Amino acid sequence: MSATHEVFNQVEPLVDYNLFAGNQALGAALKFNAPALDTAHLHALGATLGSADMQTHARLANVFTPQLKSHDRFGHRIDQVEFHPSYHALMTAATATGLHGTPWGEGSANPHLSRAAGFMLFTELEPSMLCPISMSYAVTPALRDNPAIYADWAPQLTSRAYDPALKLWKDKAGVTMGMGMTEKQGGSDVRANTTQAVPTGSDHWGQRFSVTGHKWFFSAPMCDAFLILAQTPSGLSCLFLPRVLPDGTLNPLFIQRLKDKLGNKANASSEVEFAGATAWLVGEEGRGVPQILAMGTMTRLDCALGTSGLMRQALSIALNHTSQRMAFGKKLIEQPLMKNVLADLALESEASTALALRLARSFDRPEDEHERAMQRLLTPVAKFWICKRGSHFAEEAMECLGGNGYVEEGGEGIMARIYREMPVNSIWEGAGNIMALDLLRALRKADAAAALAQELAPARGMHAALDHLAESLPTRVEQMATEMEARRLAQDVALAVQAALLAQTAPPAVFGAFCDSRLAGHWGHSFGSLGAGVDFDAIIQRAQPR
Ligand SMILES: Cc1cc2nc3c(=O)[nH]c(=O)nc-3n(C[C@H](O)[C@H](O)[C@H](O)COP(=O)(O)OP(=O)(O)OC[C@H]3O[C@@H](n4cnc5c(N)ncnc54)[C@H](O)[C@@H]3O)c2cc1C
Repeated sequence: MSATHEVFNQVEPLVDYNLFAGNQALGAALKFNAPALDTAHLHALGATLGSADMQTHARLANVFTPQLKSHDRFGHRIDQVEFHPSYHALMTAATATGLHGTPWGEGSANPHLSRAAGFMLFTELEPSMLCPISMSYAVTPALRDNPAIYADWAPQLTSRAYDPALKLWKDKAGVTMGMGMTEKQGGSDVRANTTQAVPTGSDHWGQRFSVTGHKWFFSAPMCDAFLILAQTPSGLSCLFLPRVLPDGTLNPLFIQRLKDKLGNKANASSEVEFAGATAWLVGEEGRGVPQILAMGTMTRLDCALGTSGLMRQALSIALNHTSQRMAFGKKLIEQPLMKNVLADLALESEASTALALRLARSFDRPEDEHERAMQRLLTPVAKFWICKRGSHFAEEAMECLGGNGYVEEGGEGIMARIYREMPVNSIWEGAGNIMALDLLRALRKADAAAALAQELAPARGMHAALDHLAESLPTRVEQMATEMEARRLAQDVALAVQAALLAQTAPPAVFGAFCDSRLAGHWGHSFGSLGAGVDFDAIIQRAQPR
């Protein structure tokens, strides 16, 4: 083909690099939260996830999306979801790394923090297939309240083998689990659930029920079992509902259709109906909401981790692109205003990483009172603030690539995928307002203000604006903000904790610019409006992916 022009000034995509080795913010956060943590496995994972092969799997799993096979060719219901082999390859890799239930079976010192770093790295590659991985991780604290079921299922839940076959759990090498709360008439307000559960006796797994009704959102329906909410005679209760019953027959769970979603393409999200499905009680009858929220707390952690991972990947691609692309006689990364955008994104990414990993640490130390207080306080704060910042962040990072950022194809197309993925972490597992309102509930605990003050204390005297915010927060917490002020309070707690963490984990250039912009007001309403005096080069250099 004779060329009409020379192709030049297009960039080499970011591929075959180590996602962990280049991530200084992640390394610093790990060192702060667990100084003795052995990160060799994260180095290995980072290299695998940055490979061209894995990027291809991620692309294919999103292009060839899951297909519902409701019936076989003879008309029997089978309710199966068919996935591209690349989806299974990604699931195999995530399970082998132990991102699902494995931390609950480990005796190491920081299993949740270590897993959190791996989850963040994997999200950079492909976030949507991590939905069943996240739910399988999250289920344990709630499921343990039915000791008989947990004893039977824990070995497969913690196993590092991925086994997608629809068959009896004890014949499988590994299992996954999902959750079903949301119905047509209400998702945030699950008390509106109408699905009925009628008692049918009891057996080895405890009280048994026959469940009739529906779920309007039911992600990863090919999981082996689910925790669901349904109305029993004592009120809304948490039930364990397996796809295959202990006698080997299929439980009547009918997948009505798959959702056609904005993003999150590799993950199947469905609508289902239960037609007299068998399920067993988990926890106390009538106390289903707090019971299933033990699972929700863990998935909320993953929303914060996942969004931080997506931010990091978007930033890495933006840095890779602008380091190569020329415009107006300079590399884009050398243009002063682009420096401002990139440095501002880098601050946000590092602050999100610091907050998400700080929260993850609290799950490793449930015996410590302060860590328990931080877990309760920072779960809604991190889920609210990091996820709220995600979409704005992705849009700005995409714009760094100009038109190529908006195109789906090839390496740069990851950016479009990230952009489409971002909003879901804010919506599911408790949308923004619900998280801010949950913070108000957390603050009703007597020691919340003192715990927050203790958390911020190490950064005292390091920046006037942080001191000012830190001094005002305990009073605002004690006076208890009204619902109308809840988002503002969640934002301010998030910013204060992020700043205090950066004081302890990041170089002065990062900490100073974060406080000046986010706390002292030397900032605009868009990324790229950092004030003068910022060491842009130092911040950008620290964030470079290679
Ligand atoms: C891709 C995807 C997958 C999903 N997978 C699952 C799944 O596997 N299992 C599952 O159970 N659910 C799942 N969900 C559902 C999700 O958790 C709900 O959509 C979410 O909790 C919100 O519920 P809703 O859609 O009923 O909206 P609503 O509850 O109607 O909320 C709408 C808006 O109103 C706000 N709001 C609600 N109450 C208040 C209040 N008191 N004050 C102020 N604002 C308020 C909310 O913040 C939200 O912005 C999924 C959703 C998506 C998008």
